[in-house]
Amino acid sequence: MRVLVTGGAGFIGSHVVDRLLQRGDSVTAFDDLSTGSLHNIRHLHDDPNFRFSNATVLDAQALDAEVAQVDVIYHLAAAVGVQLIVDRPLQSLITNIKGTENVLESAQKHRVKVLIASTSEIYGKSQNGPFKEEDDRVLGSPRKLRWSYSTSKAVDEILAYVYYKELGLPTVVVRLFNTIGPRQIGHYGMVVPRFIEQALRGEPVTVYGDGSQSRSFTSVHDVVKAITKLMETPQAEGDVFNVAGRSEITIRKLAELVIERAASASTIINVPFEVVYGEGFEDMDRRAADPSKLEAIAGFRCDTSLVETIDKMIEFARDSPRRQ
Ligand code: UDP
Repeated sequence: MRVLVTGGAGFIGSHVVDRLLQRGDSVTAFDDLSTGSLHNIRHLHDDPNFRFSNATVLDAQALDAEVAQVDVIYHLAAAVGVQLIVDRPLQSLITNIKGTENVLESAQKHRVKVLIASTSEIYGKSQNGPFKEEDDRVLGSPRKLRWSYSTSKAVDEILAYVYYKELGLPTVVVRLFNTIGPRQIGHYGMVVPRFIEQALRGEPVTVYGDGSQSRSFTSVHDVVKAITKLMETPQAEGDVFNVAGRSEITIRKLAELVIERAASASTIINVPFEVVYGEGFEDMDRRAADPSKLEAIAGFRCDTSLVETIDKMIEFARDSPRRQ
């Protein structure tokens, strides 16, 4: 297979690239390096089946030239992370909506199957859960910028669905839940790499709010296996899948776990949400997935333990050149 991975130099994208190359595909990583990094793909430099294209999904022409040459697209290029969305809302919206429109338009023109990465933010602040794919979305006011991410990804999902339904384009949508693993960085708010950095430096670990909010953290290695399996399963076409494990942890417990695994002397401090994200910010108390559909259709469970993933991330952070 010839595969295009948009966002291929990003955290999740670079792991997708690795897996596809390992199984013998030819892969082009398409990335504008806005949040991705050449560090994530530097080990692929001499691989003859790998190419890097430094461009943005907003450049429809450059994108189309790449789509014309492949059999499958994994569209992972997006503005991600609550911090980034709140800090740069306009650029984030344009990247997520226009970028996906461009990908789907080219995919349709060249009849190429496409995976669209969506997010658990889709469910918004609903108190119900674990969430099933068909559950209602509960969002705050559009004036609260956090919800613009959820809205942009909902537009992407609808576009993917309508291209499938009206035009017969094979699309698969995946909703990723707090994916974590090596190469993830904390600059854009992601909690686990932030806690690891803080713990390794012996600085206070910053728990936002009272830390009773919980999340389902899922190893990137599981996520990559799940989404490649879905792309090989014809039954998955036109559908949407939660991609996550079944375990949940509170942010307070997560902080304690990271400090313990890093053998750190760090303390934990609580920081009010308004201090970090500004007045009126809304956070979700609980965000857990029901991954039954993924497990039934792809025959795959995301069950790597959180401790194992955190240990790998600590090892990666210790070896990272940024720390030397
Ligand atoms: N969080 C935290 N300390 C940090 C960064 C994040 O307590 O330094 C919290 C954040 O408020 C949220 C959870 O950790 O409740 C997960 O945050 P993240 O941004 O990783 O993902 P989200 O689930 O919010 O998209």
